[in-house]
Parts: sequence; C-alpha cells; structure tokens
Amino acid sequence: MNEYDSNRIYDSVKEIDYEKTDNLFEANCYVLNTCHIREKATEKVYHDIGRVKKIFRNKIKPIVLVAGCVAQAEGDILLKREKYIDAVIGPQSYHHFKKTILKLEDNAKKINFTDFDVNKKFDNLNMTRNTNSNVSSFLTIQEGCDKFCKFCVVPYTRGAEHSRSIKELINETKELVDNGVREITLLGQNVNAYNFQKSKLSNLIYEISKIKNLKRIRYTTSHPIDFSEDLIEAHKISQKLMPLIHLPVQSGSSKILKKMNRKHSIKDYLDLINNLKKANSKIKFSSDFIIGYPGETNEDFNQTLKLLRNVEFINSYSFAFSPRPGTPAARMEKVNDNIVKERLVTFQNEADRIKMKYRKGLFNNFSWVMFENEMRIKGKFFGRDEFSNSVIANSNLDLKGKILKVKIIEGNKNTLFGELEGERNKVFAA
Ligand code: SAM
Ligand code: SF4
Repeated sequence: MNEYDSNRIYDSVKEIDYEKTDNLFEANCYVLNTCHIREKATEKVYHDIGRVKKIFRNKIKPIVLVAGCVAQAEGDILLKREKYIDAVIGPQSYHHFKKTILKLEDNAKKINFTDFDVNKKFDNLNMTRNTNSNVSSFLTIQEGCDKFCKFCVVPYTRGAEHSRSIKELINETKELVDNGVREITLLGQNVNAYNFQKSKLSNLIYEISKIKNLKRIRYTTSHPIDFSEDLIEAHKISQKLMPLIHLPVQSGSSKILKKMNRKHSIKDYLDLINNLKKANSKIKFSSDFIIGYPGETNEDFNQTLKLLRNVEFINSYSFAFSPRPGTPAARMEKVNDNIVKERLVTFQNEADRIKMKYRKGLFNNFSWVMFENEMRIKGKFFGRDEFSNSVIANSNLDLKGKILKVKIIEGNKNTLFGELEGERNKVFAA
C-alpha cells in the first residue's frame, strides 16, 4: 500500500515539476513514507533523517517530509523532536502534498496534515493521472479497518473502512492497462471487505476482467471473516484471477484467535480453505503469523505448527508479537522474550522446509510466467508465475509483458530459474 501511495505522491508532485531521483545527493525534497505496524518504526525515521542530515551537512537543506502511518501516529512529536523535518503528512492527506511543498518552498514553517478525510484524498488522487507503466501494478481499492484486532495499529492510523467508487477503479485500471500494465494487484487492509454501493470485490473483479489487455488479477490482504460465497465463486469463474490467496491467520490456536479478537476459529479457517479448494483445486495459500502473542502457551504454539503443516502454506510471513502503543494487547502480559525468539526460529525453519518442499516439486515442471523486466544483466528476464513466485529466465528477445511457458530447472527460497519452452517459436508467436 505504501508503494502504491508513494507512486501516487510522485504523480501529484510531478505537476509542480518535481522528478524522482535515485540519487539522494541531488534531491531538493526528501519524502520518507513510513509504516507503523511493528515497533522500531519511529526510531527508523529518526535514523533515516539523521542520514539525510549528514549527507546535506555543507549543502542547501532539502525540504524534508515524513508521510505514512508514523506521521499519522506521531505527528507533532516528530516535528518537535527532529527540527530537520519540515512537514508530517498522514496517509489520508496525500492530496495536500503539492501545496505543502509549495508553501515550504515559500519558507513556511512546520506543517502538520494528519486529518482523516479519506474521501478528499481519493477525490484528489482521481484527478491525478496514474502514470505507472510497469507490467505489474498495485491499485488501492479499500483503506482502513473497523475490525480492531487487539494487537493492531491500523484502525488508529488508517482510520475506518472506506471503499473507492467502482467506476473510478475501472477507469484507473483502464488507464493503467493503456500505459502497458498487464497485471493488477487490488489492495486493501481488508480487501475482501470492499463494498461500494452494493458492489463487492467479486463484482469489481468481473468488471476489470473485461479489459482485454489485462491478463492477471490478484488481491491482497483478505480477512477470513470477509470471504463471502460470491468471492469463492469468482475463483471458479474468473480465468484472470490468480490462484494464490494471502489469508492471514495469525495463530493456529482458536483460544489465541479469540484473545486477538479475530472473530473466527481454526475450524472456520480450515472450512474456508476447503471451500476455496473445491472452487478451484489449483489454489494455494500464504499467510501471516504472530508468534508469542500474550497468553500463547507451548500448546498454542504447537497448534500453530500443526496448522502450518496441514495447510502447507507456500509463503509464511511470521513476526514476533510487537506491543503497539495504544492497542489493548500492549497492556497484556508479554510472553518471555527468549521463549518468543526460540518459537520464531522453530516456526521459520518449519515454514522454510515446507516452502522448499513445494518449490522442489516445481523443478522439471512447467509454469506460466509473466515477464516484468530485463534485469541488469542483459538477456536475463524477471517474471512471476501464477503463484507470484519470482522466476528468472534467459532470452535474446524482449520478453517484457509476455506470458510464456517456462520449465523450472532449479531454485532457492527466493527465486526459481527456468528455461523458456521452445524458446524462439514461443516468443515469436506471443
Ligand atoms: N488486515 C490484515 C489481516 O487482518 O490479516 C493484516 C494487515 S497488517 C497491516 C499485516 C500483518 O502485520 C498482520 O497480518 C500481522 O501478522 C502483522 N502485525 C500487525 N500488528 C502486529 C503486531 N502488533 N505485532 C506483530 N505483528 C503484527
Ligand atoms: Fe489490523 Fe487486519 Fe485486524 Fe484490521 S483486520 S485490525 S488491519 S490485523
């Protein structure tokens, strides 16, 4: 979501003649887009700003803006503690970027935009062309969250659930596809809670499926309790919908899920997985896990391991519980740090073993890969298969934007290496 937001911020400041640079040394304006989901986020901000300060010690100071959820949560504290920061802009206030920069160019003093008017943000962004021309692009369709899981800061930093208008989203998708985008990942904190005047996520998927040159559709992140029948059905019907579902479970223990306020049990979760597999047998899952949530016993942890082995998630993102200021879980008694560390290592080793078993099963088999770009080494192309696995293959031809059949030869935890099937014929035909 921050990547999508950063691109839209860039699109908007282009209108006042700013250009993106990879070279920090030549920047006139420095924007730090932050995430507040786990601890140390605030410290990272001070650390990064310190780095910028050092670089510009004997030069003209750039305009320095902090955006994102740390800006939302810390606002004035950031401005007071670090004088080098000129403005803080929360995630719902990105439409104020241009005028903030113009005011700062005009020597305005500290500026704080951390209001919650999400409608204004999207109305404004809609007037800015989305210039993304990558093969694969994100598209935020929903923001905020009303679920209030006891560990999570999102409802406080991103505000209440808000869905964007389906018409605007179809138009933005068409624009992206006209720019060369072939794959869209629909984004939302609870993307499957999308609901705009009775249009649900499945309706949006069917609508954008009609755009001819859009080849692949993904969405993330889903909450298990918002997985409705119509969305399950969409996985049976839509040929463009990719068969990897990111479905965070957090824990394999129903007792812990209740303590987290996740509103479903492990049985509900497994039933959902079975229904999705019935709709489309190709579907695989990835998930998020919090290890060492307050009250987690060895038995609860073992249930998490059991779930991991049972579902065989192809990607598991695991985090040690991090108490976030202001959330109910921050006031609960913590599990001993050493025990949490030990459990995290055990979990990650097991998750890696399962992942590698799955990946080895791909070797010597074929995958359909959409190629996104040529890598720094000429003739090497990067792409993703239907399950979002990164694949690298060689070719003398330009593969960007093409979906090709690739034989997977080998791979590691992060990347698969493959050969194009019947390379030349296939590429000319594409
Ligand atoms: N809305 C999604 C859901 O309900 O599953 C998750 C969104 S959250 C931005 C991404 C992930 O961060 C969560 O799934 C959770 O695993 C992790 N997370 C959030 N708060 C956390 C905390 N306090 N400590 C550790 N991990 C946390
Ligand atoms: Fe956070 Fe997701 Fe729970 Fe919302 S549903 S509070 S975003 S973890």
